[in-house]
Amino acid sequence: MKKQIYLDYNATVPLLKEVKKSLIDCMDVGPLNASSIHYYGRKGKDIIDIARTNISELINTNKNNIIFTSSATEAINLLFSNFDTIVVSSVEHFAVLSSSKSDHIIPVNQHGVVDLNFLETYLKKLVKKNKKILVSVMWVNNETGIIQPIEDVVEIAKKLGCLVHCDAAQALGKIKINLEEIELDFLTLSGHKIGAPTGIGALIYNDKIDLMPQILGGGQEKGMRAGTENILGIRGFGEAAKFFVNATENNCSKVKSLRDYFQEKVKTLSPKTIFFGEKGNRVANTTLMALPEIPGDLALMKLDLESFSVSSGSACSSGKVSKSHVVSAMGYDNLASNSVRFSFPPNDSILKLENLITRKELDRLAQCWSNL
Ligand code: PLP
Repeated sequence: MKKQIYLDYNATVPLLKEVKKSLIDCMDVGPLNASSIHYYGRKGKDIIDIARTNISELINTNKNNIIFTSSATEAINLLFSNFDTIVVSSVEHFAVLSSSKSDHIIPVNQHGVVDLNFLETYLKKLVKKNKKILVSVMWVNNETGIIQPIEDVVEIAKKLGCLVHCDAAQALGKIKINLEEIELDFLTLSGHKIGAPTGIGALIYNDKIDLMPQILGGGQEKGMRAGTENILGIRGFGEAAKFFVNATENNCSKVKSLRDYFQEKVKTLSPKTIFFGEKGNRVANTTLMALPEIPGDLALMKLDLESFSVSSGSACSSGKVSKSHVVSAMGYDNLASNSVRFSFPPNDSILKLENLITRKELDRLAQCWSNL
């Protein structure tokens, strides 16, 4: 049997060893419900508090402004349930596009970068009619890896009195996030994108802005998200955050050289390949490409048969490949059903742990791609 090669880290990062160990330790502590007054309840509270500290250190924010949720998707839904007017970019994840139900859409250019002039002109008109506007732009795109000019988005939005949310699910662990240095009001995160278990996310909020909860009940998470806390998930998220504290963009050179090596191989063996967002400012681990005559689902199946686990950036929950709204938004509608995403470990620390991807394997992958 061929060795299975996983290149779908933007979908999820395998559970880190340190995280797994911390989860087992946590399970051995005993029955943990952080709302209980007794010894075990206090233990549970302590575990949550440590995780909050670890996550706040990773993104440099106040630990009291973190609300744990079941996912980034839930965190986004919670936030958006507080706003009627939400302005989004055309390349947002469906967690944003579907839950905002927004028809205030900011286009991107051919590299997948949000059009800042359009944003400014659009907001100038919108603020005349609406008092409370939330602008939601992702930090890193999950399909292309493009890093959005989020500082500029914040500057424009703030100048016009709007609030700003950033979906940072794909930015965490790939680039440095320092909330002390950027005036964001809200940030959402997903644990499993940095090696925590699935089923844990967070909303980081500005406590000067009143938010209403979406899930009501026992008042957990300062009344913002009821339901007995997912202590294992929270613990895992906290441990993964601790691991990632030193992982910034300065720690991605090996990942980048592997990704670039693979791209060059593909270009040589398969010159018809089109790369999306290659000329933009991208994270080191992602490359999205297409062959004009090969549908993405066929490519995925053939690569899977060759033991490569990759993804179409646009797969939906049923596993069916749909047209990529991101590729369409970049002006390549004719290729929107053909794109295939290769996502490497988010940074060199994870690459080292996994130690799975060699240049020889990338040679074989590029060869398989050219034979599609
Ligand atoms: N936002 C982006 C950019 C994502 O890539 C994802 C997951 O793929 C999400 C949001 C949703 O994250 P979660 O799986 O925690 O709901």
